[in-house]
Amino acid sequence: MIIDLPPTRKNYRFPGIIGAKGRRFVIDWPKAKEKANSRFFYFILTIFASLYITACSSVPSKTIPMPPISTSLPGPRMDAFHTVGPGETLWRIGKMYDVSVDELIQTNHLSNPQDLKMGQELKVPNAAQIKPVVTLYPSDKWEYIIIHHSGTEEGSALQFHHWHLNKGWDKGVGYHFVIDTNQSSKQDGQIESTPRWIKQEDGAHCKADEMNPRAIGICLVGNFDEEKVSQKQMAALVFLVNKLRRHYKIPMDHVLGHGKVPGASTHCPGIHFPWGEFTNRLRNAHSE
Ligand SMILES: [Zn+2]
Repeated sequence: MIIDLPPTRKNYRFPGIIGAKGRRFVIDWPKAKEKANSRFFYFILTIFASLYITACSSVPSKTIPMPPISTSLPGPRMDAFHTVGPGETLWRIGKMYDVSVDELIQTNHLSNPQDLKMGQELKVPNAAQIKPVVTLYPSDKWEYIIIHHSGTEEGSALQFHHWHLNKGWDKGVGYHFVIDTNQSSKQDGQIESTPRWIKQEDGAHCKADEMNPRAIGICLVGNFDEEKVSQKQMAALVFLVNKLRRHYKIPMDHVLGHGKVPGASTHCPGIHFPWGEFTNRLRNAHSE
């Protein structure tokens, strides 16, 4: 079960808490118990620490406002269809399209919203233009950002999730973020957060130099040995990397292409990836 709620210290810190109904928390007791058994002392400490911290600060993580993907003027609202990606909840999907969770429940006749299935198609009534929803969690884990390409013409977080499960990676999609093209029912430049980001877990994207536990993995859909990065993907990448870099205090020389990691033998993210343009835009983008 995935923790994906409007981020607050409470729902982020307590192991096993998976949802909130009104003012009541819904608790996944087997999971909470398993965590408590294995790390009982830590659990008790966490409770005390959380009580102390919530008294001081109620919103430690923040969901950053991102501009709509298109740079043109916002189009009119219209009904849209959305395929549920890995880790997505009604809260997240509602935020993407600026519609309420209640509207999504009613329109799709969902009797138990927690049963949302990956791959399920939802109708989104009167949807605004889609916006990425990226939550910046409190963490001192992240020291690097590593950029990848998928090496494929199409893809999405959902497709990579299935592919990586088939490779035997039991947590599925190995990246923390995917930046789409206009393939696989996605929009060019759309940023998807994966469950590994939402749960703040190690990536499975770069074994070299033991990067997986300390590097945020971002994958752009495309094969940049053969094609170019689209302008919308680049704008989304610059925006995302700068937000992450500033929040986690990651220096510029810790933003690397996969192939630049010591010990990695790969062209990833592709011979046509425009490193000069990317790093210039990172340095110059105060407002991007
Ligand atoms: Zn790679």
